[in-house]
Amino acid sequence: MSNHSINLIYLLSATLFMLGIKYLSSPNTAKRGNLLSMIGMAAAIGITLTTPGLHGFTLIIIGIIIGTVIGGYAALKVKMTSMPEMVALFNGCGGAASALVAMAEFRGPNTEFDSFTLITLLLSMIIGGLTFTGSLMAYAKLQDLISTRPITYPGQQFINGAIVLVTLVLASLLFQDPSNTLVFFGILALSLSLGVLAVIPIGGADMPVIICLLNSYSGLAVSMTGFALNNNALIITGSLVGASGIILTKIMCDAMNRSLANVLFSAFGKIIESADDTGEGPTGTIKGYEVEDVATILANAGSLIIVPGYGMAAAQAQHATRELGDYLGEQGVNVRYAIHPVAGRMPGHMNVLLAEADVPYEQLFALEDINDDFAGTDVVLVIGANDVVNPAAKTNPSSPIYGMPVLDVEKATTVIVLKRSMSVGFAGIENELFFMDNTMMLFGDARSSLQKLVATLKQ
Ligand code: NDP
Repeated sequence: MSNHSINLIYLLSATLFMLGIKYLSSPNTAKRGNLLSMIGMAAAIGITLTTPGLHGFTLIIIGIIIGTVIGGYAALKVKMTSMPEMVALFNGCGGAASALVAMAEFRGPNTEFDSFTLITLLLSMIIGGLTFTGSLMAYAKLQDLISTRPITYPGQQFINGAIVLVTLVLASLLFQDPSNTLVFFGILALSLSLGVLAVIPIGGADMPVIICLLNSYSGLAVSMTGFALNNNALIITGSLVGASGIILTKIMCDAMNRSLANVLFSAFGKIIESADDTGEGPTGTIKGYEVEDVATILANAGSLIIVPGYGMAAAQAQHATRELGDYLGEQGVNVRYAIHPVAGRMPGHMNVLLAEADVPYEQLFALEDINDDFAGTDVVLVIGANDVVNPAAKTNPSSPIYGMPVLDVEKATTVIVLKRSMSVGFAGIENELFFMDNTMMLFGDARSSLQKLVATLKQ
């Protein structure tokens, strides 16, 4: 196939990717968006295989088969609750792939590159490398393999800055002599360690921002690889991922009411001593109630706002949630859902789950559209949410989530919280909401509690 025809198919693929992203913006059209993107990707891969002078065809096919089996198996087997971890891992794979291509070019037989190619190869290796290890750290934090709190130590900012500086110096040395093995491995080691060191101080509720940023980096690395290999499909796809990742980063920063610099650097070198660390957490009486009590309150409510959080995802309680909402709606209760932008463990997590359970889209309200309504609401049902309803974000300046907009659930007449214990949420901090006079706790797995509630209400 001629280069002209190949580029024409790449253009078609790029158009399908853009349409795919457009359709992904609504749950109603998301499946179509996914399908169009898959067709675009298949076309791009297929046409690339016809590139004149392509070597190692058998190896490429083996690679595609291995990747397809692993990706297909993971996508089929992954639980909805583990989607964020899988996305983090796949993000890392994107970074690793870009870095590996750049490394193969550097270590290949031809080390005579023009300046532009050299710069793009270096960027591909550095950004790809740090995206790989950064995503692995994000995975470890999401999976609770390491502490979700910021890991900080004295001089952290200085050390990270020094590593960036040394990486740039080594990059300029490799620019002058691309065959220098020692410098090559030095850059590789430093970019891999940068990913780890940049993500460990991120904690509290800031992980959504860093996940979006790493997503954007993986796109950037891919587009750099595209420039180096002179491949238009990679340039366009990488730019799309990079641009949409950075837009999502901005949306998440706005949701947290933080600047990107603040998220990235605020934990550097300073150990936050919050009330939780000093043992002076919220005090008061915890009021645990039975299903029957909660059912009575719900049956007598005129208005209800349901606030889902990570616990709803963990309990796979989205269908039971809809069942309760539907039943109460049929009884004349004004039922609405309040969606916090960082609830759950990935952007749009709650929207995806509630869409899967067929909750009508018009019942879902974003934080800014519903926050003023809590004050006039009879009952708020918090299902496995914790950080996103923590009043400390408004009242406690030493809290790691201070300044993050939260749902003002405590302003409702009655707040019912469904969770299993008094355990903290992702940010690792106590929640004074659970101790407030108008809060009732219904302890237990969210799905089982909801099923019992529906059964009791229907009796
Ligand atoms: P949280 O992580 O704050 O709290 C979840 C709560 O769910 C826990 O307190 C837990 O309490 C409860 N829970 C867990 N399993 C169950 C179950 N089976 N049944 C009932 N309850 C359960 O969740 P939020 O959604 O409020 O906040 C999200 C947090 O995650 C924020 O800090 C956010 O920044 C962070 N984050 C978000 C990402 C995103 O993109 N959305 C990505 C990464 C992090 P218990 O154990 O007592 O049941």
